Amino acid sequence: MPHSELVVVANRLPIDETVLDSGAREWRRSPGGLVSALRPILRGEGTTWIGWAGGTGPAPDLPDIDGVALRAVPLSDDEFENYYEGFANSTVWPLYHDAVEQPVFHRRWWEAYQRINRRFAAAAAESSPPGALVWVQDYHLQLVPAMLRALRPDLRIGFFMHIPFPPPELFKQIPRCADLLRGLLGADLVGFQTPGGARNFVRLIDRVLGLRTRHSEIEVDGRVARVGAFPISIDVEDLERLAASEQVRAHAAQMRADLGNPDRILLGVDRLDYTKGIEHRLKAYRELLADGRVKVPNTVLVQVAVPSRERVEHYRMLRDKVEREVGGVNGEYGRLGVPAVHYLNCSYNRSELAALYLAADVMVVTPLRDGMNLVAKEYVACRPDNGGALVLSEFAGAAQELKQAYQVNPHDLDELKDTLVLALEADPADAGRRMRAMRRYLRTHDVTAWARAYLTALEFPVES
Ligand code: UDP
Repeated sequence: MPHSELVVVANRLPIDETVLDSGAREWRRSPGGLVSALRPILRGEGTTWIGWAGGTGPAPDLPDIDGVALRAVPLSDDEFENYYEGFANSTVWPLYHDAVEQPVFHRRWWEAYQRINRRFAAAAAESSPPGALVWVQDYHLQLVPAMLRALRPDLRIGFFMHIPFPPPELFKQIPRCADLLRGLLGADLVGFQTPGGARNFVRLIDRVLGLRTRHSEIEVDGRVARVGAFPISIDVEDLERLAASEQVRAHAAQMRADLGNPDRILLGVDRLDYTKGIEHRLKAYRELLADGRVKVPNTVLVQVAVPSRERVEHYRMLRDKVEREVGGVNGEYGRLGVPAVHYLNCSYNRSELAALYLAADVMVVTPLRDGMNLVAKEYVACRPDNGGALVLSEFAGAAQELKQAYQVNPHDLDELKDTLVLALEADPADAGRRMRAMRRYLRTHDVTAWARAYLTALEFPVES
């Protein structure tokens, strides 16, 4: 069948290598992120996923996962450092997130980025059947669409950017930024999380490349590339089911008991990343404690901070700062056996997270900039009881959809403090109405709807 084969190209393959008690090694499907987003559309034969398997050295032979054929792209230590930690995570990541940390530019990083993008494009060209749809994911692989089109003009090529796309005045700081734009334009459809990101891209095409643009269409090399906003989402049904299960509800009750059954639990769940606004949140909480507007043990904050990119300097510095601040708050306001902040520097699985969401009275999502923020959506999906309240930064993509959240500018400390108190003291009927409205929205805007909207725009047949 023409165009029925799908090839996903992403930096990471959806698997991790685990060492069993026996010492044997085994590949397991990895949790979270892009994997869960794409899971509903990856069922069935004819799908290939191309990506890096983690670890450096030669590419391993991999088993199929849920009928999806995996093909590994190898990276050496040096390439990992320059392409992944360097250009992707120390140039693009900070710059695309409003430069909340200073982006760093090195020519050797850019060279490695080009080389690795070429390697991914070659792997996709080799693995794609004639006329297949190749869906390239995210900021690590922005040059792949054009490189792949040069190798395989018969393919239909999509690109989706999971992180924000910045305004021209920021983007233009990147040396050779025109190459990135040309790379992305190799796709038939360039998808962004928000209309603002899509608009920034079209403005840049006009200003930097001087190509003809009409709303969401760009004429390039005698063809038309389209641009659009496709806000990513979550598997709402699955999470609702999980949160309603006896096991998760019992676990949530146990968590509340373990925390000393406080009146109010505030919860933050983030990768330990400087875009997430963890420091701003801790500062607001500390001031609320200092002002006496919240008190331990009646109110506690649980902060899950998942270790992330620990070899990158900005991340090491952030971890030090956050942990110092947590220590300071606990030293000043904690009591024997009752810390003010329960800080958990680890990763939780889906069911544990659902229990945490269910146990929390106020979910605090305060990124300084975030492409979407799935945690905000997951919290709403995990509250079929209509309990809880969501405090959400206006700078998360999710804020454009979850309009009934208690929205806040996390840079404005007084506003952040007032909004936290508003959510903590909300009338349950009003909070319930907000949660219901957001859940209703998410039910019709789940991850399957996201994938279907994107693939349909590329005229790829999607089962209903
Ligand atoms: N997550 C997880 N375990 C944790 C914390 C987070 O599996 O302990 C998952 C979470 O459920 C969500 C993803 O990691 O699906 C984080 O996505 P988000 O868009 O919020 O932020 P990102 O880390 O992609 O910037």
